[in-house]
Amino acid sequence: MTQSVMTTQPELTPTPALSVSGVYKSFGTFVALEGVDLDIWPGEFISIIGHSGCGKSTLLNLVAGLNPPTAGTVSLFGRPVEGPGPERAMVFQNYSLLPWLSVRANVLEAMKASVPQMGRQEREGVCEGVLKMVGLWTHRDQKPGSLSGGQRQRVAIARAFAVQPRVLLLDEPFGALDAITRGKLQDELLGMWSGPESGISNVLMVTHDIDEAIYLSDRIVVMSNGPRAHIHEVLKVNLERPRERARLVSDPVYLALKAHMLDLLGRVLAH
Ligand code: ADP
Ligand code: MG
Repeated sequence: MTQSVMTTQPELTPTPALSVSGVYKSFGTFVALEGVDLDIWPGEFISIIGHSGCGKSTLLNLVAGLNPPTAGTVSLFGRPVEGPGPERAMVFQNYSLLPWLSVRANVLEAMKASVPQMGRQEREGVCEGVLKMVGLWTHRDQKPGSLSGGQRQRVAIARAFAVQPRVLLLDEPFGALDAITRGKLQDELLGMWSGPESGISNVLMVTHDIDEAIYLSDRIVVMSNGPRAHIHEVLKVNLERPRERARLVSDPVYLALKAHMLDLLGRVLAH
């Protein structure tokens, strides 16, 4: 029997990798999130999708520990999130690079902060590897200001990959990239997450791309529109891995899921 990789709740794992419970988040009088509950199991790749402004980044920031919930709890591997931590790495929607450092130094500094136990030689090797992966090794000595938006985004992705977090938090990481680079990095991400030596347990990714969500995820969290946004529906992606893009486009499971999501986002949750 083929081992199913779609199992979302391993039988003997009572502790979720991530547990969001009764979360309510307001900014002054504006209620962004209300009644958000979500459990993610170790090993799962989860996408969050929803219309612009519904609260996806807000939810991701809560998990990152950048902003506390107004009410409710967020726990990671059974421990309450009280701030940022080295076991989580975030790729922000608007790539936050340090402008005074070179591309290479942006990656190396993040590694020094998050994996201080790694020796210099190994660190430099990993840095070279991730910068080659995103196609920026030849730009390693440039400052972010002299790069295009897509190139900056790739530095941010390289930096997150380099620190090998237990949980990778991605806020529309591939939005600014051309289709080919995007596809390549999606596959690198999958390899990074599922590889035999991967220390990455979970990926939580915000995207507005339905195909990307289906191709990458075990489950897709569809959020309702804000204000007072909550989780409208969680969709399970019953497609075996490894997935082949070329075959997916004619797979009835893929097509049905895509049609359902188009209906949800285009009609049910239309503004
Ligand atoms: P998304 O990422 O889904 O596009 P956000 O999470 O960025 O949406 O924002 C959700 C809602 O919360 C928006 O209406 C936004 O204006 C509001 N919001 C987000 N952050 C803040 C903040 N710091 N102060 C006030 N309102 C905010
Ligand atoms: Mg956002």
